[in-house]
Amino acid sequence: RLEIKNLRRSYGGRQVVDDVSLQIMPGQVTCLLGPSGCGKSTTLRMIAGVEMQDSGTIHVDGKLICDTVFRVPPERREIGLMFQDFALFPHLSVADNVGFGLKKGTKAEKRARIEELLKRVDLLRYIDGYPHQLSGGEQQRVALARALAPQPRIMLMDEPFSGLDNRLRDGIRDETLSILKEEDTAVLLVTHEPDEAMRMADEIALMRDGKIVQQGAPYNVYTRPVDRASVAFFSDAN
Ligand code: ATP
Ligand code: MG
Repeated sequence: RLEIKNLRRSYGGRQVVDDVSLQIMPGQVTCLLGPSGCGKSTTLRMIAGVEMQDSGTIHVDGKLICDTVFRVPPERREIGLMFQDFALFPHLSVADNVGFGLKKGTKAEKRARIEELLKRVDLLRYIDGYPHQLSGGEQQRVALARALAPQPRIMLMDEPFSGLDNRLRDGIRDETLSILKEEDTAVLLVTHEPDEAMRMADEIALMRDGKIVQQGAPYNVYTRPVDRASVAFFSDAN
């Protein structure tokens, strides 16, 4: 369970993330949805620990991960990351890419985990291949396997599907969702596309100018916009 409270961050006097609070339960996908520049990625980077908040707290399963004085380093947060430009390591095999974040276990145990994950994304046949031998969609699935390998309780995804063509995207979205649900992962997915949020989210947090302006089930957010700007956002994007 991920809990962020009153997160704030400003750049050069501009409040980019302004008092954002969210709670995400295991097995639940929350979409942080909003127009370009509203502060979505900044929010995710603070949760990942690669950016420091000005104020606010982050808890994982009730444990404090970060406030303004205490800070667990990113690599020890046990949070999975999947970003659009989070490329595979080109000089490492598919197996080594997937196994990169695996710290515990013997060599054989790691290999077994890698095989299991590649089977799930249907790419076992490429286990000893290299990223350049794979299509964009296949690389994305390897990236998903890599992010899942350490069994993170929380997964942060920043527009992870936007580099894919429409035909591939739907399949990979559905596949990703079913794996994350099966593993009971708490997911925070960032997107600026209402369609993607409607399709993937259990809950939508609509963000604008650094603030969450509305939060709820996709159908409710879509059919009961809180103001004109939200109406415009949903209709412009369609
Ligand atoms: P997009 O949908 O385009 O990815 P976003 O909602 O993810 O947008 P952010 O990347 O969080 O937006 O950026 C929010 C605002 O903060 C932007 O106006 C951006 O220019 C600014 N910003 C982000 N990072 C920095 C930085 N390191 N220094 C200065 N300004 C920044
Ligand atoms: Mg962004």
